[in-house]
Amino acid sequence: MGMAEPVQEWPDARRKEALRAERTESYVSTQGRLTTPQMATHGQAPRVAACVYIGVGSNLGDRMSHCLAAVDALDRLDRTRLVAVSPWYETEPVGAAAPGDFLNGVVGLETDLEPRALLEACLAIERERGRARAAREGPRTLDLDLLLYDDRVVDEPGLTVPHPRMAERAFVLLPLADIAPRAVHPVLGCTVAVLRSRLSDRHAVRLYQSSWSSAV
Ligand code: ADP
Ligand code: MG
Repeated sequence: MGMAEPVQEWPDARRKEALRAERTESYVSTQGRLTTPQMATHGQAPRVAACVYIGVGSNLGDRMSHCLAAVDALDRLDRTRLVAVSPWYETEPVGAAAPGDFLNGVVGLETDLEPRALLEACLAIERERGRARAAREGPRTLDLDLLLYDDRVVDEPGLTVPHPRMAERAFVLLPLADIAPRAVHPVLGCTVAVLRSRLSDRHAVRLYQSSWSSAV
């Protein structure tokens, strides 16, 4: 009588939901990302997967089939979910060493793989498509570049993130801006949309087809 209601303890599930909602809100405002509840580990605090963008390119053989095989292989990676596929662009090769035009696009993933594991997976997918590792900018059946991994900065032997040449490459920034204009480059401190607007890359990049699925 007259006693205050005891403070009700939130059941665990509700506490987790609240935490998830809070994290989602802050992430959406910074990165426009989504949570992936299906990747949460049962019995532990909910996890939010990393938001990652990977550049896909091919200028040898059946370019579209190499690129689509890469999309499929990335989607099938462990603890990884495909979130977006950009339109594809056709690009004149940057160096003199490459004879044919490139087909380029960007894939958005949510993943629990760490950057190094993701790079290894990308290199394995390249190898599966028979990439002969020759000169940089030379012809290749498949090139996968880890462009952005959340706001992480990695500078290790064999792995630099963000990808060191992404900011000057139209064939990266056009498709990336199509799917992630508000993603932030953590070193340059500006959005992909801003980087794209500053492009001085003169190499011709033209839209190849606007819907990747229509190529299947
Ligand atoms: P590029 O794609 O820049 O033309 P290559 O594909 O020939 O160059 O270079 C691949 C090598 O670059 C890989 O062996 C890998 O170890 C290294 N590398 C460093 N950082 C990255 C990254 N962010 N994404 C992909 N490869 C990277
Ligand atoms: Mg590469």
